[in-house]
Amino acid sequence: MKSPLEILQTRFGYGSFRLQQESIIQSVLQGKDTFALMPTGGGKSLCYQIPALIFEGLTVVISPLIALMKDQVDALRLNGVPAAFLNSTQSSSEQDAIIARVQSGELKLLYLAPESSFFRRIGSFKVSLIAIDEAHCISHWGHDFRPEYLMLAQLKRTMPNVPVIALTATADRVTQKDIIQKLELNNPAVFVSSFNRANIRYTVEQKKKSFEKLLGFLQTRRDDSGIIYCLSRTSTESLAADLAREGFNVLPYHAGMDKDQRAKHQEMFLRDQVKIMVATIAFGMGIDKSNVRYVVHMDLPKNIESYYQETGRAGRDGLESEALLYYTYADVSKMKKFVEIEGNNAQTEIYLKKLNQMAAYGDLVTCRRKYLLNYFDEPAPDHCGNCDICLTQVEREDGTVLAQKLLSAVTRLQERFGAGYVIDFLRGSHSGKIMDDHKALKTFGVGADVSKDQWNAIVRDLLAQGYLAKSEGTYPVLKLTARSQAALFGRERVMLVSSKEKRETVMHEPAA
Ligand code: ADP
Ligand code: ZN
Repeated sequence: MKSPLEILQTRFGYGSFRLQQESIIQSVLQGKDTFALMPTGGGKSLCYQIPALIFEGLTVVISPLIALMKDQVDALRLNGVPAAFLNSTQSSSEQDAIIARVQSGELKLLYLAPESSFFRRIGSFKVSLIAIDEAHCISHWGHDFRPEYLMLAQLKRTMPNVPVIALTATADRVTQKDIIQKLELNNPAVFVSSFNRANIRYTVEQKKKSFEKLLGFLQTRRDDSGIIYCLSRTSTESLAADLAREGFNVLPYHAGMDKDQRAKHQEMFLRDQVKIMVATIAFGMGIDKSNVRYVVHMDLPKNIESYYQETGRAGRDGLESEALLYYTYADVSKMKKFVEIEGNNAQTEIYLKKLNQMAAYGDLVTCRRKYLLNYFDEPAPDHCGNCDICLTQVEREDGTVLAQKLLSAVTRLQERFGAGYVIDFLRGSHSGKIMDDHKALKTFGVGADVSKDQWNAIVRDLLAQGYLAKSEGTYPVLKLTARSQAALFGRERVMLVSSKEKRETVMHEPAA
C-alpha cells in the first residue's frame, strides 16, 4: 500500500504537501469526519482524491458546479485515476454506463451534484468516503446558500459509518459551526489553514479617472497575465475594446456571450495567447492558472468573501502579485438601491451587512491584510508591509544625493542602458561588462559604497515616484523624466524609503 506522500509524488507529480493537506488526509484515512477550511488554490481537492485512491471502495464527491465537474474528472483521468461524474446533462444511457462502472467497483471517484437523484441509491454501493465541496453552500450565513445542499444532512443519517469530509474556502466561525451542525458531522476534526496570501499586495485607489490610472498600471505589466473584473457585461466589453485600442492583448468574458466563444476566450487566456481577461465574476470559477500576476476590480465586489476569492486567483505560483481595487462610495449606494428594490428579508440584511464590510475595506486607514484576515477570524499583525497602507507609511529619508548620482549616471550613459548596467557602472564594476570609454566618465564608481540590492531598490523607488521611467520592449532602458531634472538640479528633495526598510517594502515593485 502506497503512502499519501508516495501517491502525491507518483500520481500527481508534486514534491511535498502544502498547508495542512497531510494532516487532513491522515484524519480522513482514520475514518474521522473532517472539516477543512483552506483558501482557494490551497489544494483542497487532493485532500479527498488521495484518500480515494487508498480506500477500497468509492469516494463520492458532491460539488455544486456542474460546469466544473467535467474538467476535474478529465484532469484526474489524465493522472490515471478512474473517475466519472453523473449529472442531468448526460443521456440516460450514459448515466447507466457510469452506474455500471460504479457497480463493478472500477471507479474510485464519482462526482455528483447535490440535487442528483442518484443519492437515493448510493447506500447500496460500497462507499468509503463522502467529500462535500463548497460546503458553505449549506449555510444561510455564508454568501452562497443553496437550498439543495440541505438534503445532504441525510447522508450522515443513512450512512452513519461512512466518513464525511466537508471542504470550503470561505466560512467565518458562525458559518463553520453551522456547516458542521447541518451536515451532522460526528465530532469532526477541524482544520483551518491560514488565509494569508503573503505574495499578494493589496491596493485601493480612488475610482476617479480609473481608466487613465489603469493604463498606467498596465503599462509596466504588458507581458503579465491579469484579470480585470467589472460589474456589468456591457462594461467588460467596452473596457476590453478601449484597452485593445491602446494596444493591449485583451479579451472580454461574461455569461451573456455564447458558450463557444466564452470557452475559446478562456482557453486563450489559459494558454497565454491573450494576456488580459476583462470579465464579470462569471469568469474564474475553477480556473487554475498559476501565473496570474494581477487582479483588478473596476467596481466594488459584493462582499469580502467574493473579493478574497477573486483576488486569490492571482499569484498561485507564489510570486509577487497585485490585487488592485478602484473604490468609490458611489458604488455602495448604487448596489444598496439595487437590493432595496428587491424587497427586504433576512437575506437582504446579510447582503447589506456584507456590502458595508466590503465598503469599509475601501475606506481603511489601517493594514488591509489585517482587515481581510480578521474578517475570516484569523489573527494578524498590525502591519503586513505589503499593502498600500503599510507601504505608504514606511519611513522615508532624504535620498537626494543618491538619486542625483543615479540620475546623472543615466544622463552620462545617454539613457541607453538598463538598470543592471547603470548600477554596475555606478559601483565601478570591473567585471568587464562596462565598456572602456564608460570607465572614463566622471560618474563611474561614485556609488561603490551602496550595495547592488540597495541600488536596485532605489531604482524601483525612483520609478515608482516618477523620477525615472523605463522604455518598452525586451530590453528596457532607464529614461529621464521632467521630474528627474528637478531632482538633478536640486529643485526637489528626493525622499526615499529608508534603507532599513527598503528590502522589505520596495521588494514588491515590479522588477526594475
Ligand atoms: P482549491 O480547490 O483549494 O481551490 P485545488 O485543489 O484546485 O485548490 O488546487 C489548486 C492547485 O494547486 C491545483 O493545480 C493543484 O494541482 C495544485 N496543488 C495542490 N496541492 C499541491 C501540492 N502539495 N503541491 C503542489 N501543487 C499542489
Ligand atoms: Zn498591510
